[in-house]
Amino acid sequence: MAAEVLSQHGVKVDVYDSMSSLGRKFLMAGKSGLNLTHSEPFEQFAAHYGKRRKQIEPIIKSFGPDDLREWARGLGVETFVGTSGRVFPIGMKASPLLRAWLKRLDEAGVNFHLRHKWNGTIAAEDSSLSVEFETPDGIKTIKADAVVLALGGGSWARLGSDGAWVHWLNQAGVKVEALKPSNCGFDVTWSPHFRERFDGQPLKSVVLSFGSFRQQGEFIVTKNGVQGSLVYAASASIRDEIEAKGKAVITLDMSPDRSHEWLVEKLSKPRGSRSMASHLEKTVGLKGVKVRLLHEFMPKEDFANMERLASFIKQLPIPLIAPRPLDEAISSAGGVTFESLDENLMIRELPGIFCAGEMLDWEAPTGGYLLTACFASGYTAGLGVLKWLKK
Ligand SMILES: Cc1cc2nc3c(=O)[nH]c(=O)nc-3n(C[C@H](O)[C@H](O)[C@H](O)COP(=O)(O)OP(=O)(O)OC[C@H]3O[C@@H](n4cnc5c(N)ncnc54)[C@H](O)[C@@H]3O)c2cc1C
Repeated sequence: MAAEVLSQHGVKVDVYDSMSSLGRKFLMAGKSGLNLTHSEPFEQFAAHYGKRRKQIEPIIKSFGPDDLREWARGLGVETFVGTSGRVFPIGMKASPLLRAWLKRLDEAGVNFHLRHKWNGTIAAEDSSLSVEFETPDGIKTIKADAVVLALGGGSWARLGSDGAWVHWLNQAGVKVEALKPSNCGFDVTWSPHFRERFDGQPLKSVVLSFGSFRQQGEFIVTKNGVQGSLVYAASASIRDEIEAKGKAVITLDMSPDRSHEWLVEKLSKPRGSRSMASHLEKTVGLKGVKVRLLHEFMPKEDFANMERLASFIKQLPIPLIAPRPLDEAISSAGGVTFESLDENLMIRELPGIFCAGEMLDWEAPTGGYLLTACFASGYTAGLGVLKWLKK
């Protein structure tokens, strides 16, 4: 996005990427429909940046959700608002958008250099910056008047963003918060039987509560624990609690449309010779993974007490013991701190070097907030470089 802003203003731009093709993570986001942004009012939209709202707000004010939709339209890709208010390109794919964008950048004179991995070296020489890349032909050094780093976070390293830059920028005196998993799954100590039998099973129409978080949705049981949209939505506060206290206990309402009283009344019907599993299915419609989950976390003796059983169906505690590794997460928290940057996203300690995207120290839930802030910060950095070059 910075390259786009700069090339539109007649600046000669070179884009370097370590991978053999561009936009791998963007294309991966396209596999789940490419949720570009969200249609809710700006106030609500901005609130999703949580602790970093103050820093992100001016960035998304200069290039926000409507601008992003307009930008896609300009590339010949119309967008639509899904039932949840999320915005997707028609076709729900990233490749047509990326293809059209790269063509437009190419026509604007932007040069792309693939298999060029920045190795952490940038030196200020006279009035320009000298930047080193590892390439298939050995080390290559280029000169630039300004540099925009947009190196991504640390998740899904095989797509190119490996977080190696954290160490390099730290060494250069830039304050970087350690990268942590965001929008991530968590480990749960399942019994061996549960792990074997229910790996990959979805838990649908459940309400997950954690602190002030309460939301209905679905997630998936994995052999290690839990993952999926509902868990991701609560993941930042769960992760922080595990970091502070060693574990976090979420509670699950597995029958959100039924009251406790209704459950007690139905469960109190005579069971006869039926097994408990069949009684739960016949009386309250609970079966499969939901019933086994009760067995995982409910004392055995409470199955005979319908009040207690109903309470566990409405509020089953599930202890989460650790976030899944950063590489598996959808995105990263942590990164270059905003105090290290000026309002143009230039590193205060390293004049002429700007940062954008997920490598900045912010996080947001899924819903289009990630891509929007990445595009917007690229736009801000591009404008910042323009100002810098005019000095
Ligand atoms: C499975 C998945 C689905 C997602 N779905 C969505 C979604 O629907 N909506 C949404 O808003 N967000 C989504 N995201 C998140 C979103 O894709 C990222 O937040 C976004 O792509 C980050 O953009 P970025 O430009 O900052 O970094 P990246 O897209 O990671 O790009 C960084 C680039 O820098 C290159 N690079 C890194 N280090 C070096 C180096 N040393 N030298 C040279 N090049 C280097 C990498 O090769 C890479 O091309 C998803 C993420 C994943 C993993």
